[in-house]
Amino acid sequence: MKFFVETFGCQMNTSDSQEMARSLMARGFVPSDNARDADCILVNTCTVRQHAEDKAVSFLGRLAEWKEADPRRVLVVAGCAAERLGEKNLKRRFPHVDLVVGAKSIDRFDRLLDECMASPPRDGFDARGEDLGSWSRETRIERLLPEETVSAHVSVMRGCNYACSYCVVPSVRGREVYRPAGTVLSEVRQKAALGLKEVILLGQTVNSYRPSAAEDGVSDFAGLLRAVNQVPGVRRIRFMSPHPFYLDEKTANAMAESENVCRHMHLPVQSGSDGVLERMRRNYTRSGFLEKMSLLRRAMPDIFVTTDFIVGFPGETEEDFRATISLASEADFDGAYVFKYSSRPGTVSAGWPDDVPEAAKEARHGELLSLMEGISTKKTEAFVNRRREVLVESKGEHSFEGRLREGRKVFFTSGTPHRPGDLVPVDITGASGRTLKGRAV
Ligand code: SF4
Repeated sequence: MKFFVETFGCQMNTSDSQEMARSLMARGFVPSDNARDADCILVNTCTVRQHAEDKAVSFLGRLAEWKEADPRRVLVVAGCAAERLGEKNLKRRFPHVDLVVGAKSIDRFDRLLDECMASPPRDGFDARGEDLGSWSRETRIERLLPEETVSAHVSVMRGCNYACSYCVVPSVRGREVYRPAGTVLSEVRQKAALGLKEVILLGQTVNSYRPSAAEDGVSDFAGLLRAVNQVPGVRRIRFMSPHPFYLDEKTANAMAESENVCRHMHLPVQSGSDGVLERMRRNYTRSGFLEKMSLLRRAMPDIFVTTDFIVGFPGETEEDFRATISLASEADFDGAYVFKYSSRPGTVSAGWPDDVPEAAKEARHGELLSLMEGISTKKTEAFVNRRREVLVESKGEHSFEGRLREGRKVFFTSGTPHRPGDLVPVDITGASGRTLKGRAV
């Protein structure tokens, strides 16, 4: 039996999809590289913006024909939009859906899948067939999903205790639950033993990590970074998404003193106006955020910091927007994603008038984006004529695609073959926008 996974949204969803895929493989399914041939399709959904939810929902709609072709096939819908929309509503709209596993129920995926597959029983489905722990190293490598052969996504927590007024995540993922440090570290050791050199630690506010009991000497995020840094085979450590409030000297020093921690942090600021930050309930001020940036740069002068901005938030004035523009330069970010505010049902700000005209949102989005593109292009050009280590992510005939420790993407040529996951020294020869090109040494 074959399965296919379609994942929408963030890296937390990618990590959840990988966990659910392993459960499917343990029950006799093998990965299919296309949906058409699959006996089971898992759609892991996102609801952070309406557009993301619409994409997942229209994908579901298009699967009715696939299901009609063989009613024994199984369609599973999981994740944040599944949690927000709910089982009843989804099955009413899409009768061809067999199983709905909301983001808060992903830990119960195995049991829910077994129950679903038991009625009516499906040939070849082996509930609780294999114990994942019994897999040999070869089987684990063989069963790594394509995107797992480069970076190991390791969730350290689920949920978020924050309540940013525009964000739907807390309502669909629940309160923070931290994975025990021992469990996190053993997953890191396991994946490093499979040859994965990069570890990406995941959490909605990953640096708020505070496990209930200290294990392996780890009682907080700084401690976790130091411990992962000691795991044999790990050469790169990244983490998503930190929250500025939890960024402290201890974490900055742990990053600076852990040679495998990449000199890149994506630290969402969202706005440069104190009034807007307060209404967003971000729990920091403009000057407070800038202090965190200085703290980071004191510990690691060469660190690359990218960020997120939301423009057109309810009540945002031209003056507020000017404050965001000035912060973008003052903070000297190395890159940014710029989003136009879109109201999400179930959030606090959904109750406020979305009073910034679409034209103003569009204009502010355009202005901030071009400012940031100008800044990040200059930062990218600074790599030209330098030699950098690149983690190979994918390969063509004689060309390869990879990433610097600073996060920049590199396309390079080489006279020798390289595989995804290899670390290769590359001479950077050119830059365009945020990407670089080069030649392997
Ligand atoms: S910190 Fe704020 S924006 Fe981030 S997931 Fe939590 S509520 Fe959402």
